[in-house]
Amino acid sequence: MIDELYRQLRQRSNELDIERRWPAQQLKLCAEFGVFRWFVPKVFGGLEWNERQQLESYLAISQACMTTAFVLTQWNAACKRIVASTNEALRNRLLPGMASGEVFTTVGISHLTTSRQHLAQPAIQASLRGEGGYVLSGVTPWVTGARFSQSIVLGATLPDGRQILCALPTHRAGVDCGPGVPLVALTSSCTDEVHLEHVEVEADEILFGPTHHVMQLGSGGASGGLQTSALAIGLAKAAIGYLGEEAKRRSELIAVAHKLEHDVQLLQQQLLSLADGESPVQPIELRQQANSLVLRATQAALAAAKGTGYKQGHDAGRWCREALFFLVWSCPQPVLNASLCELAHLAP
Ligand SMILES: Cc1cc2nc3c(=O)[nH]c(=O)nc-3n(C[C@H](O)[C@H](O)[C@H](O)COP(=O)(O)OP(=O)(O)OC[C@H]3O[C@@H](n4cnc5c(N)ncnc54)[C@H](O)[C@@H]3O)c2cc1C
Repeated sequence: MIDELYRQLRQRSNELDIERRWPAQQLKLCAEFGVFRWFVPKVFGGLEWNERQQLESYLAISQACMTTAFVLTQWNAACKRIVASTNEALRNRLLPGMASGEVFTTVGISHLTTSRQHLAQPAIQASLRGEGGYVLSGVTPWVTGARFSQSIVLGATLPDGRQILCALPTHRAGVDCGPGVPLVALTSSCTDEVHLEHVEVEADEILFGPTHHVMQLGSGGASGGLQTSALAIGLAKAAIGYLGEEAKRRSELIAVAHKLEHDVQLLQQQLLSLADGESPVQPIELRQQANSLVLRATQAALAAAKGTGYKQGHDAGRWCREALFFLVWSCPQPVLNASLCELAHLAP
C-alpha cells in the first residue's frame, strides 16, 4: 500500500522540479498515508517508529522524490526538538496537529551550527523582556518552507552568549518569511531567509534554554545525523536503479551498474546497522562515503543518459543537481574537508 505513495511521489518529481512550487500535494499525500505519524510518539497520536524504520522510509521517499524527502527532514528536525523539550504544554499544543499532518513546522537553526559561524555577531539576537519571555531581532539565513509553516523552531543568542530554542509562530508581528529563493535544485522547498524585527516570544514558547550550546541538549540536539546520509543513499539508489535498467539492454553499462549497486547496498547496510546501535563505521565516515557515492552515481546516470539526460525534464540531470545539495547541506567541517580533499585528489 505504501508503495503507492512512493509511486505517486516519483511520478510527480520532475513536474515539481520544473514548476518550482511548494510540494503541497506531496505533503497532503504524505498525510493521507500517515507518514507524519511515523515520527511522532504514540501519546501524541503518532506511531513512534524506531530509527531503523524511519531511515528505511527516508531511503524510499528520497529515492522517489528528493524535494519531499528533504522538506520532511526539516519538519522532522523541528518535531524532534519539540518532542525532546520538557515544555509539556507546548508539546501538547503542537504535536497532535503535526502527527496528523495538519500543522507544518520547520527549523531555523543553522546559524547556531553550520552557517554564519565566522561572523562576530549572532544572526538572531535575543533580549529578556520585562514581563518574561524574549524579544528577537535579526535574520536567519535558511528556513525551508517558512512561508508555508505555522511555526519555526528557531535558535537565538542572548548578549551573554547563552542560547534559546523557541517555537515561534510565523504569524507573529515582526516576522517576515521570504517566499523561497531560486536554487540549483530543490527550489520547491521554498527555502529563504526569515527576518525578525523586535519579535516577542512568550516564556511558554521556549523549548530549550537559556543555556550555552543549546543545540547539544535533548535527543534532537545534534544537527545533521544519519537522515542526511539516508537521503544521499536514497538518491544514489534512484540513479543506480536507472543504470541497472539501462544495463539490461546496453552491455557496456553492466560492470558500472553492478559496482555501484554493490557500493550502495554496502552503505545502506552500514546506515541501518548504525540505526540498530552497531557501529560498522563512524556516522561522519558514512556521511562522507554517501556524499561521494551520490555524486558519482548521479553523474554516472547522466553519462549513461547522454545528451538526452541533459535536457530539462529528464531524471538524470535533476538527480545530478539534487546530489550537489549534499556538498552544502548540514556539512560539519570534517565532511566539508573530506569533500574538498576528494575533489582536489588530496589525501585527507
Ligand atoms: C536548500 C537549503 C535548505 C536549507 N534549509 C535549512 C533549514 O530549513 N533550516 C536550517 O536551519 N538550515 C537550513 N539550511 C542550512 C544548511 O544546513 C547549512 O547551514 C548551510 O548550507 C551553510 O551554508 P552558508 O552559506 O550559510 O555557510 P556560511 O559558513 O555562513 O558561508 C556563507 C559565506 O561566507 C563565506 N565564509 C564561509 N566561511 C568563512 C570564513 N571562515 N571566513 C570568511 N568567510 C567565510 C563564504 O564565502 C560563504 O559563501 C539549508 C541550506 C540549503 C542550501
